[in-house]
Amino acid sequence: MNRIITGIAASPGIAIGKVFLYKDSNFEIFEKSKLTKEEEIARLIKGREIAKAQLEEIKENTLVKLGKDKADIFEGHITLLEDEELFSEIDSKISENNYTAEFALNEAIDEYATMLGNLEDAYFKERAGDLRDIGKRWLYGVANQEIVDLSKLQPETIIVAKELNPSDTAQINLDNVLAFVTEIGGKTAHSSIMARSLELPAVVGVGAILDTLQAEQTIIVDAIKGEVIVDPNEETLKLYSEKREKVLREKEELKVLREKEAISKDGYKVDVWGNIGSPKDVKGIISNGGFGVGLYRTEFLFMDKDSFPTEDEQFEAYKIVAEELAGYPVTIRTMDIGGDKSLPYMELPKEENPFLGWRAIRVCLDRQEILRTQFKALLRASKYGKIKIMLPMIIDIEEVRKAKKILEECKAELREKGIEFDENIMLGIMVETPAVAFRAKYFSRECDFFSIGTNDLTQYTLAVDRGNEQIANLYDTYNPAVLQAIKMLIDGAHAGGINISMCGEFAGDENAVPLLFGMGLDSFSMSGISIPKVKKIMMKLTKADCEKLVEDALELSTAEEIKKLVKEFISKL
Ligand code: PEP
Ligand code: MG
Repeated sequence: MNRIITGIAASPGIAIGKVFLYKDSNFEIFEKSKLTKEEEIARLIKGREIAKAQLEEIKENTLVKLGKDKADIFEGHITLLEDEELFSEIDSKISENNYTAEFALNEAIDEYATMLGNLEDAYFKERAGDLRDIGKRWLYGVANQEIVDLSKLQPETIIVAKELNPSDTAQINLDNVLAFVTEIGGKTAHSSIMARSLELPAVVGVGAILDTLQAEQTIIVDAIKGEVIVDPNEETLKLYSEKREKVLREKEELKVLREKEAISKDGYKVDVWGNIGSPKDVKGIISNGGFGVGLYRTEFLFMDKDSFPTEDEQFEAYKIVAEELAGYPVTIRTMDIGGDKSLPYMELPKEENPFLGWRAIRVCLDRQEILRTQFKALLRASKYGKIKIMLPMIIDIEEVRKAKKILEECKAELREKGIEFDENIMLGIMVETPAVAFRAKYFSRECDFFSIGTNDLTQYTLAVDRGNEQIANLYDTYNPAVLQAIKMLIDGAHAGGINISMCGEFAGDENAVPLLFGMGLDSFSMSGISIPKVKKIMMKLTKADCEKLVEDALELSTAEEIKKLVKEFISKL
């Protein structure tokens, strides 16, 4: 019997597959043991053996797939796991306090990791993350619980999870996984954005379903409507197989627009670029017809690793993208960590309001060595293509000035060493806070370009957490206040004589294109999957009509009224 669960369509597509329940085993950890001290120690040793065997296997696989350098990371993990001092600390916790092995292990790992995280030396700080990782593996070993590896799932799998963090999403193997469904999360949560880059269908924010599903159960994910159909009957399965075929066919048909520029009926051209999270995504941008990258979210390069990527590692990644785009612009954003993106090896403080906290440019200006390394890698790569540098989460002109000063110092250092780079490299900012919208003209005098981050601009303008499905109905970029902020940013940029693009998800909303074109947006940047649809609608528009649409829309009072007006406008095209 069909059971339909509704959620938010986060990445379009249709999938039919078998459920994989991805949950942290929430086994209870008891403080006091009922066993003897010797028995607890034996459990501790057994758990360590299990963890070691897993790490050996990961090391071997990594050696084959990624080479010795990466495999050595896991050799380091094994050494840490076998650290005698750590073992005797846990041992004495068990002996002196009658703790269970799990409790003693957790406490010791926590104390050691906190101690390492508080040290000044970057190397030791990074080891804190490794230690927590190893601690989890060891803990699961002691408790005899399985630790899940998302890169090794069965074919035709649909992952169902409470929530996926971006590093979980990065692990997914597209050969085996057809879609994912999460209980919480919104359309602009970073795992949703990554799903769109990967062209992996996803429905998020479906509410508590994990306990109502069984492993291997057949489900359909309709990530166009935002529905999950559990136990579909034969008729529904047939209907959805046909729907899936149709979606795939349409996708292919739109690809004929690949070589075409986005030019309106009356001859105005806008740029249509793609958003990427790694060099791997460039292929999808080019194949969908994007003539440039409007946003490279570099933090995924940082999140994929066990320690900060070196200048050379970063340089290699940026160079590949610059070369593959062969002279088309590549806008690379400096590390935007914090909010919903954490680094396993960097102790970010626990904050009440992480999206209002220590994130993005704030972290980089406090820990300048991170920014300097990234700037130097970007400058070096700028020799190989048209790289533009972009700073995230700006609220104050002073932040732009400080970053510029650091960039100039990095340039001087490279000049001194005789290393070539693009002397005219552009430095722009993400405009994603009301602070910049109010003062756009003044910011535009100090930047080479703007790019509107509507994902954050919407949450900060409306005070609505972008990842909270409870209030997802309030998170609406069509809210007149957000549209007004976008208009102010575009006008402000043009008043200062600079170009403005949009790289938030709104740029890929085909219904929003007439409004944005009417406001005068110069470039649109989006997931590869949205590029053909945006080009298609651009070709049907005329500037004067779209300007009139904007005028009328901004006179309306609610998001619903504006959406209705836009729909009517589009239906007449
Ligand atoms: C945005 O805020 O719109 C944006 C593009 O940045 P991110 O989604 O990475 O925060
Ligand atoms: Mg943002």
